[in-house]
Amino acid sequence: AVAVRATDIVKRYGGVTALNGVSLTVTEGEVFGIIGPNGAGKSTLFDILCGITKPTSGAIEVLGRDVGHMAPHAVARTGVARTFQRTAVFADATVFENLRYGRHASFRHGVLGRIVGSSSCRADEQAFQERAREVLALTGLDGDRDRRAGVLAYGVQRRLAVGVALMADPKILFLDEPAAGMNGRETADFIALIRAVAPGRTILIVEHDMAVIRELCGRALVVVDGRPVVIDEPQHVLRHPE
Ligand code: ADP
Ligand code: ADP
Repeated sequence: AVAVRATDIVKRYGGVTALNGVSLTVTEGEVFGIIGPNGAGKSTLFDILCGITKPTSGAIEVLGRDVGHMAPHAVARTGVARTFQRTAVFADATVFENLRYGRHASFRHGVLGRIVGSSSCRADEQAFQERAREVLALTGLDGDRDRRAGVLAYGVQRRLAVGVALMADPKILFLDEPAAGMNGRETADFIALIRAVAPGRTILIVEHDMAVIRELCGRALVVVDGRPVVIDEPQHVLRHPE
């Protein structure tokens, strides 16, 4: 089934055309990359796909629903979660508290809320504790549960950001430059984490680090000047001349 389908997306900011006719179809279960030079329109496309920005024209379908005119929280309710370009964890809160935030965000935005919505606070707390344990194990953060996020190494904070997004057990996970600023070891750990969470999920990654795209993505889209240049397997895409 189709996870994300964008058809002829155009986005103009005043006189600037950020996207000029981008179409793509991502199948459920794919890990899909979006690459291209600075200013190409990657962030704009990403924000449109996860419902934060509305296109000037064109259609977007997420998990079979037309989300082109939906409010961002309604798009999230379809089963979408994202991380942000900057780490975006609460530095003064513990790892566990950050996950609680992810749980509340996903509660408000639906996914977990639908599961436990009508049950008691205690059932709700139990569901949170259980999911938090799973996410701590997945992200390798068991030992850091009660540490302040701000004292963790940068790569660990970025894993936590993925953990916060995973609290909702989203069907589609959007990662915005997840490996930016990571060293080699951190990047390798990160690739392992994404491989571990990929089964049963669709993942879209905007990323500058071509090693990450090569290691993780089945296909990648190259955007240049707001236009799609090529969609193919990374080894073919990365040989494509500029
Ligand atoms: P920035 O200036 O933002 O760092 P780059 O020009 O380095 O952006 O491009 C980001 C990545 O996208 C680079 O690794 C580059 O190889 C890749 N890329 C850009 N344009 C193309 C293209 N036409 N075909 C294949 N890869 C491309
Ligand atoms: P990328 O993520 O590939 O670096 P962006 O999507 O950020 O590219 O930007 C694409 C183009 O749209 C750029 O020319 C950028 O200056 C422009 N742009 C992006 N956001 C805005 C905005 N809010 N207002 C005006 N222009 C914007």
